[in-house]
Amino acid sequence: MSDSFEANLIRNTGNVVIVGGGLAGLFCALKLAPRPVTVISAAPLGQGASTAWAQGGIAAAVAEGDSAEAHAADTIAVGAGLVDETIALGIAREAGARVHDLLRYGVPFDRDLEGRLAVGREAAHSARRIVHVRGDMAGKAIMSALIEAVRATPSIRVIEGFAAEALLTDDGAVTGLQIRKIGDATAKPLTIASRAVVLATGGIGHLYAVTTNPAEASGPGLAIAARAGAVIADPEFVQFHPTAIMVGRDPAPLATEALRGEGATLINDKGERFMLARHPLAELAPRDIVARGVFAEIAAGHGAFLDAREALGAHFAAKFPTVHASCMAAGIDPAKQPIPVAPAAHYHMGGIAVDAHGRTSLRGLWAGGEVSSTGAHGANRLASNSLLEAVVYAGRIAEDIEGQALAAPARLLPDGPMSPRNGPMPALSERSLRTMMASHVGVIRDREQLAEAVRSFAALERDAGNIALRNMAATALLVASSAWARRESRGAHYRKDYPAERPELRHRTMTTLIAAREIATSLDRVPLRSPQPMIA
Ligand SMILES: Cc1cc2nc3c(=O)[nH]c(=O)nc-3n(C[C@H](O)[C@H](O)[C@H](O)COP(=O)(O)OP(=O)(O)OC[C@H]3O[C@@H](n4cnc5c(N)ncnc54)[C@H](O)[C@@H]3O)c2cc1C
Repeated sequence: MSDSFEANLIRNTGNVVIVGGGLAGLFCALKLAPRPVTVISAAPLGQGASTAWAQGGIAAAVAEGDSAEAHAADTIAVGAGLVDETIALGIAREAGARVHDLLRYGVPFDRDLEGRLAVGREAAHSARRIVHVRGDMAGKAIMSALIEAVRATPSIRVIEGFAAEALLTDDGAVTGLQIRKIGDATAKPLTIASRAVVLATGGIGHLYAVTTNPAEASGPGLAIAARAGAVIADPEFVQFHPTAIMVGRDPAPLATEALRGEGATLINDKGERFMLARHPLAELAPRDIVARGVFAEIAAGHGAFLDAREALGAHFAAKFPTVHASCMAAGIDPAKQPIPVAPAAHYHMGGIAVDAHGRTSLRGLWAGGEVSSTGAHGANRLASNSLLEAVVYAGRIAEDIEGQALAAPARLLPDGPMSPRNGPMPALSERSLRTMMASHVGVIRDREQLAEAVRSFAALERDAGNIALRNMAATALLVASSAWARRESRGAHYRKDYPAERPELRHRTMTTLIAAREIATSLDRVPLRSPQPMIA
């Protein structure tokens, strides 16, 4: 990279820097136009973003007879007592306006014969309210329309192939960002001065060995905010999809819930339908209950398979072409063979705590999309509410930044807060972290395993010589320590040592990285099995 590129990068921030090129980041940038903004994306636009993989669509009460109140009531019912009701209603009320914004940016949502937006139904929604594109292509269509709009907007500068790895702060306010070229851990970090930083880096699924999320979703935004002192909300609440296809791919392809809707059953290696004994609705029980059933069966050594031979048979390829292709590529013909499945980390309800404007607890820092926690999802997410939350908050953040006096130019900064020295990513340590998240901080949790994970992640967060790994460890530590501290089961968080919900714990978690480290230190004093070393 030339010196002039670096100098240009550092000086011309236009005072607003958005980190992340998914729905939240790109929509925010478009809404801020013509104000100059810089969008930094680790992956080239269109790749490395969960948005592009969304198959369902966006929940919006736009159909006749539906209402924002009914949408909010469904959201609250799924969230296991922790949904902020005002926030849920606010989001539901803004859904129609944001969907119309997306239409203006060129997203071709499906329409019915009368030209009205076509709406589909999804689990736990009391009405048909999912706007979609060509069946299951919503994510791809949203991304390609927004990318085209962004590329055609001269005020938006996009820097691809750089990852944000630290925030710069001065007296409690965010003053900029440290970034580094992807794929070159020893490259010199660059600093960008900025009066307003928006984190829109997506979720944390890739912290788990089995996930549906892209590799970029390893919680870097959450980590860098936490390292700068931001308050983190509800990190223990991670939603697991019950049926990821286990064909040796990382991330794992999804076997959509619609397959079970069509009559596919879950069986173990003896051919027994293990969900029958677990819930009256068997395979159609709520997502978290099915995920636990699949997890328990695998943990007991019986394996878990989705069997669509009888329900779909020869119609499989025509009805579910994407799932069919994933199976066939791995040598499994789902019309004739059961599909091996496992639960996969899918969505993070927790994140950087934000208010109704998307402001974090740090001045100059906003967060939107999956990296944030608004209170809209509580302990469990209602299907298709995440894209909605991302687009609503991206709009609100743009409005909030627009209304702020950011007149003073951002100060130029010397090299970043961390040593520019950075070791290569130790693959073994990364693998150990992901394996431990799946086995110790996964679908079924208990005190011993969580304590072991907390101690291991705290040691890694302290000692890792690679910044990306240290950031992964920081987010893992926040998830594990809050899961350790929540001594009950609620929503997606299940503790086998505390299997019931406890009414006195009906409150959101608000924590910091310092508090998480303190939990680790307190556990060091308790006799436990020794933590697993993770530094390779
Ligand atoms: C398979 C799948 C299906 C889904 N289906 C649906 C659905 O139908 N409906 C629904 O509502 N939700 C769905 N979700 C969830 C939803 O897609 C996400 O919650 C949402 O897209 C998140 O948007 P985002 O903009 O916050 O993040 P993303 O779209 O994940 O974008 C994150 C961006 O940040 C960049 N980035 C990450 N780290 C860094 C860094 N350190 N520096 C710079 N850039 C960085 C990435 O490259 C990417 O550009 C699905 C998720 C998955 C995985």
